[in-house]
Amino acid sequence: METLDVIRIVLGTAIIVVAAVFAARRILFLQGMIRSGQPAVGRTSHVGKRAELEGSQVLGQKKLLQWAIPGVAHVFAFWGFLVLGITVAEALGEVYIENFWFPVIGTWPIVLFLEDLFVILVFVGIVIFAIIRLLNNPAKEGRRSRFFGSHTGAAWIVLLMIFNVLWTLELYRGAKLALHGQLPGAFFSNWIASLMEPLGVSTLEVLEFFGVILHIAVILGFLLIVLYSKHLHIGLAPINVAFSRLPNALGPLLPMYSGGKPIDFEDPADDATFGVGRIEDFTWKDTLDFATCTECGRCQSQCPAWNTGKPLSPKLMIMDLREASFAKAPYVMAAQKANDGANPPLGDVDEAVLATMPQSVKDAVERPLVGPRDDVAHKDTDGYDASGHRDQSGPVIDEDALWSCTTCGACVYQCPVDIEHIDHFIDMRRYQVMIDTSFPVELNGMFKNVETKGNPWGMNASMRNAWIEEVDFEVRVFGMDGEDTIPADVEYLFWVGCAGAFEDRAKKTTKAVAELLTIAGVSFMVLGEGETCNGDPARRAGNEFLFQMQAMQNVEVLNEIKAKKIVVTCPHCLNTLGREYPQVGGNYEVVHYSQLLATLVREGRLIPVTPLETGMTEKVTYHDPCYLGRHNNIYVPPRELVESVPGVELVEMPRHGAQSFCCGAGGARMWMEEKLGTRVNANRAEEAVATGAAKVAVACPFCSVMLNDAVTSFQQQGQAEGFEVVDLASLLLAGVKKDA
Ligand code: SF4
Ligand code: SF4
Repeated sequence: METLDVIRIVLGTAIIVVAAVFAARRILFLQGMIRSGQPAVGRTSHVGKRAELEGSQVLGQKKLLQWAIPGVAHVFAFWGFLVLGITVAEALGEVYIENFWFPVIGTWPIVLFLEDLFVILVFVGIVIFAIIRLLNNPAKEGRRSRFFGSHTGAAWIVLLMIFNVLWTLELYRGAKLALHGQLPGAFFSNWIASLMEPLGVSTLEVLEFFGVILHIAVILGFLLIVLYSKHLHIGLAPINVAFSRLPNALGPLLPMYSGGKPIDFEDPADDATFGVGRIEDFTWKDTLDFATCTECGRCQSQCPAWNTGKPLSPKLMIMDLREASFAKAPYVMAAQKANDGANPPLGDVDEAVLATMPQSVKDAVERPLVGPRDDVAHKDTDGYDASGHRDQSGPVIDEDALWSCTTCGACVYQCPVDIEHIDHFIDMRRYQVMIDTSFPVELNGMFKNVETKGNPWGMNASMRNAWIEEVDFEVRVFGMDGEDTIPADVEYLFWVGCAGAFEDRAKKTTKAVAELLTIAGVSFMVLGEGETCNGDPARRAGNEFLFQMQAMQNVEVLNEIKAKKIVVTCPHCLNTLGREYPQVGGNYEVVHYSQLLATLVREGRLIPVTPLETGMTEKVTYHDPCYLGRHNNIYVPPRELVESVPGVELVEMPRHGAQSFCCGAGGARMWMEEKLGTRVNANRAEEAVATGAAKVAVACPFCSVMLNDAVTSFQQQGQAEGFEVVDLASLLLAGVKKDA
């Protein structure tokens, strides 16, 4: 054995052993940290569906490809990692066996071709990433950059390391092929070998030696950087996707669990944990979410709160939770070990364990999870240091950020690694409301109104039927004829909703829907005073007790009267009755009015014939409500309705469909004051007006209120003259009614 071979084996083995020790140490820590989370329910069911997700989302990179250019660059890098995995194995083998090729497939021309092709494609990918980062430089773009607050330095190091992997691979492979003969398929490496051949055997042997040692040092160094940095996602993303919420983390909120068991709200256990008040109250899946964030900022770029100058960025929230999890993990793991696997009771700290911890961990234990952050970091870009990082002291999550979320779902929809932002935020709100009683003061009124009057407006139940007196057709009200179940001749229970019964603009929609159903000959009935708030605003505001109370009351009534098919005007009712009530024993077929009316138009039971008053083509744009679109995937029927009206041309806003921008009312924001930043509804209304349309059609009573308010305010300032907000039913009715 020659000296160079001995040095290669000794040096190579030393690098491998050192890297393995550091990697194993980190992996054990990560595993311990994630396992220290609370039990997560339903994360291993539907194995087939999970395998399908791995195929589409991980191998197919489906979500990343929603953004074409960075998506393609990521496909190159991701598939490059897979294909070049063979070359990594070969490099490790090369330490011990000269001219080592992976058994069977290593010298297969197709494999050699693919390896060389991906060396080039990965290089193209990192160049694209570098350009994207330069164009979105947070130092220049501030909050407009999706990388604002991300660890940009680490990202550049990773790009550099990928480049190092590529050139060291080609260095050793070129020397190897030049020494031992070129191979068919390796078009790029053969070309490098041809360039190196004139250097002579002894130089090539030295280059091969250095190339291999450098290559494995770079690869293993890269592995350690990945394990110790935000690039953990390279390893964690497929795992996080495998355990993600099915079908996704949109639509219904998760029921509340304590220690992995559902909380019985009628008789909760004494030691039940309500929501998340400490970092260790999150589940293991939540902790995995935090560790998986790639800091890509796709969520932040779409967030209505962030885009209107609020302190909330979903990315920064997840990053803050990650920093806090990592910092507190040594204490949490040790305290659980000392307490038979359990966390000390809420409010208690295991002082004996804490005393053994370094100061940094003690500081992390001291930090409250939610509270006011005085460092202004959340509230002003000046609060960030040169690298865009925030101070990691004081509360982990700024309370203003937590309460700024409209639960619009844009972050969840965008996230390429399936992070479940809304669930985490609501869990923290639940603790704030039910245990800490620390929440925006305006919510008190809403909670009280729902609890005592059965609606957030605090109106008397007797007013629920007021709209019926304003129409000139018959509306059947349950119980008026002494029935105790829905009569067989009634096809739909029309769930009017609180807004639909009490709010003037929403009442117009209610009347228009009822009239259209009557014209189409659809038999329906309303519950009248039997209806009460579905509980959505309370649930999104974290008051699960109140939600459970409302839900159980409604489900009891609906089950008693044997409701089966329900039509609603409000997407929040759709989501709650259709997708959350099954959690409390209510299973109904719930449709949004846009779906039912679109079907009636398609069947010819509603025929829009009358041109609009102008007699000319009128442009109408459509605003997708978050709880109809992103949360419930209903995009087509509302557009069908707009386009069904003669003389109407649908024009889309730049942000439409799944990319729609919130109106600002979801997540119980409807009942909170908007004191920070600019107004979300004004941002959206501006976009609608800018399309040049004469009207914006809405499909949700809250969107209607928010956009109407914004347009009214524009008009008071002499802008958006003549622009109207119209609900889909009124728009259609104007086209259907002969005398309109
Ligand atoms: S749900 Fe919407 S408002 Fe809330 S953090 Fe996500 S994008 Fe922002
Ligand atoms: S989209 Fe997902 S991965 Fe990207 S920054 Fe947001 S939370 Fe992290």
